[in-house]
Order: sequence, then C-alpha cells, then structure tokens
Amino acid sequence: MSPEPLLEATGIGKAFGAFRAVDDAGLAVREGEIVGLIGPNGAGKSTFFNCLAGDAQPTAGRIVFAGKDVTRAPADAHARAGIARSFQVPVTFEDMTVLENVMVGAFLRQSHRNDARARAREMLEATGLTRLADTRAGSLGTPGRKRLEIARALATEPRLLLLDEALAGLTPTEVQEAIGLVRSIHARGITLIIVEHIMEVILSLAERAVVFNQGRVIAEGPPRAVVDDPAVIEAYLGRSMRRRTAPP
Ligand code: ADP
Ligand code: MG
Repeated sequence: MSPEPLLEATGIGKAFGAFRAVDDAGLAVREGEIVGLIGPNGAGKSTFFNCLAGDAQPTAGRIVFAGKDVTRAPADAHARAGIARSFQVPVTFEDMTVLENVMVGAFLRQSHRNDARARAREMLEATGLTRLADTRAGSLGTPGRKRLEIARALATEPRLLLLDEALAGLTPTEVQEAIGLVRSIHARGITLIIVEHIMEVILSLAERAVVFNQGRVIAEGPPRAVVDDPAVIEAYLGRSMRRRTAPP
C-alpha cells in the first residue's frame, strides 16, 4: 500500500449563496480502491463530485490528486491529471455517433484522429458498445447512454473514475452486467468512487462506504457495517418520513 492517497480532499465546502450543499466534507482514496459514496437525495454527492472533477470550484477546502493541488484547476486540468467522471444525467452529443462521442474523450491524450478512433473503439469494446458504434447517440436508451458516459470517461485514460449513479434506471439484469463492467474497469487498475442508490451494488463492489448527509460525511467504513449504522438509517428514514408528511 502506498503511503500517499491517490486522492485527498479535505474540508471541502460548496456554497450556493447562503446554502451549503457541501460542508466540510473530506475523503481520502488509496490507489486501487473502490469507494461507495451513498446518502439520501440532496446530500451533496453530485456537488462533491463536481468539485473533485473540476466542474465546480469548491468554496472551501483543498483537493490533492497524485500529489498535485488541483483545488482551483479547471475541469480539463483535472482530466489531464487523471480524474474522469460520468454525469448523473448523461451528457451526450446527440447528433454524433456513439464512436464520435467516445472520440471526444480520447482526444484528451491522442492528437491524431486515427489514434483517437482506435482508442475509442477499444473503449467501445470494453463497455460492450461496439455494435452501436455508428448509431446516433441521441437514439440510445438509458443503458446505452450510461455505458457511453463510462466509455467516454475511460477514453481519457483516467487513474480515478467517478461514477455518478451510472447504474440508475437499469433493469436488474442490466445492473448485473454493469457490476461486471465496473469490475473489469477496476481490473484495469483504475481507482473508483461510485455514487449509487442500489445498496446491493455498493455491498458487492465497494471495499469502503462513505455516507453523506446534508453536505457532510456522517459515517465511513466497511459497507455492511455502514448500512447497519443507526445514524445512517436515521439519515435515510428522516428523509422518507419528511417526504411522507410533506409531499413535494
Ligand atoms: P445529491 O447528488 O446527493 O442528490 P446534489 O449535490 O445534487 O445532491 O445537491 C445537493 C444540494 O445542493 C441540493 O439541495 C441541491 O438542490 C443543491 N444544489 C445543487 N446544485 C446547485 C446549484 N447549482 N445551485 C443551487 N443549489 C444547488
Ligand atoms: Mg446526485
């Protein structure tokens, strides 16, 4: 085990006006780990990912990746450093083909078109999308879009991949396939942080679970122990109780 974590985020805050979506959250991830990030809706998980990926600038704290301070660096610098992410709501270039979408990711490190295409094809193969290579991205269903997001992220050759509900909206069979895909990504030596609501996914993939609630980390540890933690149960129940009494 290397003494230095691959990622170390400390005291991260992200405020929108007076509202603190992320409030003094910290996370250290070792190279080769799969960390599950869970918590009720609105806990700040996606906002935290935005900070880690450089899609949002934290209003407090520090992010060190592979020994380099990337706290205020723009998204492309995070990508070049080796952090890639999928979006909770897939961001695809609808009128481009699946292959072309993945090439966008590949261009981060390949400056020649043919190299980018070759790299993209490899990622389509790895994510089971080869047969859809020439399909217009806009015509894909949910499972295809989720895979496309992952393929494009992988094409940037990341060391750390952040998956934001990449398995949401999939059928149980598709979830099982996606679990296999995540395992194969991990087997390539890529470190992962996965945000997922399906506990079965966290329990079968993550070595460690980190629980967010109201912008803070409220629990952390082996997934099985964490889901049985009364504070965690309370965080989830508190939400569903409120939702029951005050429907949106
Ligand atoms: P999660 O991913 O855990 O469901 P989010 O990070 O999406 O949570 O959101 C955390 C909180 O921050 C929510 O209350 C959300 O409404 C709020 N929020 C997220 N992005 C913005 C924004 N750009 N402006 C204002 N509030 C935001
Ligand atoms: Mg989210």
